[in-house]
Amino acid sequence: MPIIQMRDVSKKYKNGTTALRNVSVSVEPGEFIYVVGPSGSGKSTFLKLIYREEKANRGEIVVAGENLMKLKNKKVPFLRRKMGTIFQDYKLLPNKTAYENIAYAMQVIGKKPYEIKKRVQEVLDLVGLRHKAKMFPNQLSGGEQQRIAIARAIVNTPKILIADEPTGNLDPENTWEIMKILERINQQGTTVIMGTHNSSIVNTIRHRVLTIENGRIVHDEMEGVYTYD
Ligand code: ADP
Ligand code: ADP
Repeated sequence: MPIIQMRDVSKKYKNGTTALRNVSVSVEPGEFIYVVGPSGSGKSTFLKLIYREEKANRGEIVVAGENLMKLKNKKVPFLRRKMGTIFQDYKLLPNKTAYENIAYAMQVIGKKPYEIKKRVQEVLDLVGLRHKAKMFPNQLSGGEQQRIAIARAIVNTPKILIADEPTGNLDPENTWEIMKILERINQQGTTVIMGTHNSSIVNTIRHRVLTIENGRIVHDEMEGVYTYD
């Protein structure tokens, strides 16, 4: 069964901008998918519909067994538990340490302190930053902040990781470091959906590529390359 299914989905923002038109796509569990296309083509909107930051106007969206067109707003937190999100600007809480940023994601869903301690150390190891646990975000480099954001996103073992331009603010060295971590997470079974403008990533670490132009999916290729006309 697909973990994400969209059928004839359209999204029009309140100001009249149509961001997605008749989008249909099906994603199997464990896939790694790049979402590419020109600026303003609808990539972020596509991702936002999946984690229900925005609602579609038309069509059908099913994510991890939840029909998003019927999902009540108060159920959205339960949907979000099935996915992690990371962004170009990291979005760490500035007044919490790296450790606390990650632990907080477990506290809010009621995990027990001993579970939290064990699991946070585990994900800090996964991103190679156990030694920076006590640092605040402004004491970390961009690459380190993104690694903490990834640790936070996966601490509750989500089925899906949504990444919107995760390497957009990073130099090539940090970019590849982040990609290595995302690969590892994907190999452990997490479905990864990543919006990106980085053609060298897409053409080097080959995965399925969805190309969006003007709100439509114009290419959908397994082991695809970075192209738009
Ligand atoms: P991308 O991520 O490919 O740059 P977006 O999904 O952010 O594209 O945007 C697609 C289109 O929708 C653009 O025309 C953009 O200006 C518009 N858009 C995005 N967010 C909003 C919003 N909240 N309100 C109105 N228009 C928006
Ligand atoms: P990005 O995709 O670069 O991370 P956003 O998704 O916030 O950034 O915005 C993408 C595009 O959508 C930009 O061109 C931005 O100006 C436009 N946009 C975002 N929010 C709105 C909004 N509320 N109204 C109109 N346009 C918006």
